[in-house]
Amino acid sequence: MFAHLPPYAGDPILSLMESYQRDARADKVNLGIGVYADGAGVIPVLPSVRAVEVEDHFNSAPCTYLPMEGHTGYRQAVAQLLFGPELPDQNHLAIIQTLGGSGALKVGADLIARFFPQPQIWVPDPTWDNHIGIFEGAGFGVQRYPYYDADKKGLAFDALLSKLESLEAGSVVLLHPCCHNPTGIDPDRGQWTQIIEVLERRALLPFFDLAYQGFAASLEQDVWPVRECVRRGIAFFLSNSFSKIFSLYGERVGALSVFCPQDGQANNVLGQLKLTVRRNYSSPPLHGALIVARVLSDAHLRQQWEGEVNQMRERVHGMRERLHAGLAKVLPEYNFGFLLRQNGMFGYTGLSAAQVERLREQHGVYAVSSGRICVAGLNPGNVDKVCLAMAEVIRG
Ligand code: PMP
Repeated sequence: MFAHLPPYAGDPILSLMESYQRDARADKVNLGIGVYADGAGVIPVLPSVRAVEVEDHFNSAPCTYLPMEGHTGYRQAVAQLLFGPELPDQNHLAIIQTLGGSGALKVGADLIARFFPQPQIWVPDPTWDNHIGIFEGAGFGVQRYPYYDADKKGLAFDALLSKLESLEAGSVVLLHPCCHNPTGIDPDRGQWTQIIEVLERRALLPFFDLAYQGFAASLEQDVWPVRECVRRGIAFFLSNSFSKIFSLYGERVGALSVFCPQDGQANNVLGQLKLTVRRNYSSPPLHGALIVARVLSDAHLRQQWEGEVNQMRERVHGMRERLHAGLAKVLPEYNFGFLLRQNGMFGYTGLSAAQVERLREQHGVYAVSSGRICVAGLNPGNVDKVCLAMAEVIRG
């Protein structure tokens, strides 16, 4: 019956995680998967989340079905967080709760594929691998636009802009509003303004994917490109994830927002999103959404959580500086200044796949073959070892 099914080679990042777990070396270091660990190397339960989980009424509530679009209080609180003072009214915004950021991408992709025949999406080169998988899986042709300039170790801005200029009206363009995965390189405000001007002039459809709000500069500043599109009346899709910024990976909490600048469209868009959900998994899970809704809506918990996001961002930034200083010390002939210009959880080291393999084999330091390391996996107890190991493989 199933003889024609080919084997699955496995997801490169998740397979790396499995090899890490099998590795018996006591001083192994996991810089592969994009998960935030604290200074002790532990994935935290945020105190704001714990505070909600011990509330009595929280634990005794019945576990009913949520509606297709998710929990109402959650959707309102998330919309506030994303759009702030630019929050569109409900005639111009369709927002649903989703299974993490991946679920939002999938529902958005399915919706576009249903109503825009032969859809094409342009994604940055490089991008998070699963962008390609999810959009191809939904029937899209996936194309790349220039993003990373390996010589400059920075943004290939001119090439990016001229590629966008050349796209046909209605083309979907995937954009990371902050903390680009995998490079950590984000356009600055002026570059974003130019990008948005092209999106507007060429009538392109942005699909923003926001997995790290608050991990670059702040919860507010990191969504500037999204809010700028609201101010200009540009229609867009926005997927967002609470996996990292609430440390709720396994709860699968995210949302999909569609901004509909023209009157009278948001209701139909919301209806079609609900139908897409119904046909996929019927309704989203409850527990994680209740936690996030409660934290975002309670003034005290909200303030506490914002402090926790700031702490996570600052810890990663501090480790980035330690990594940079450590590398500068052991390899004074190299310039690692580019690491300090990268945002968020990732460092794009410029290491080759062969060097990454040696890091893993000889030193037990796990990174992605593209040379991406998860800076959030560094801590005072492992950073010196990582610097020495990187120096060793760079010297060859
Ligand atoms: N988008 C990007 C850019 C990501 O890095 C990730 C997580 N690695 C996701 C989406 C998926 O988020 P989630 O785990 O919430 O599905």
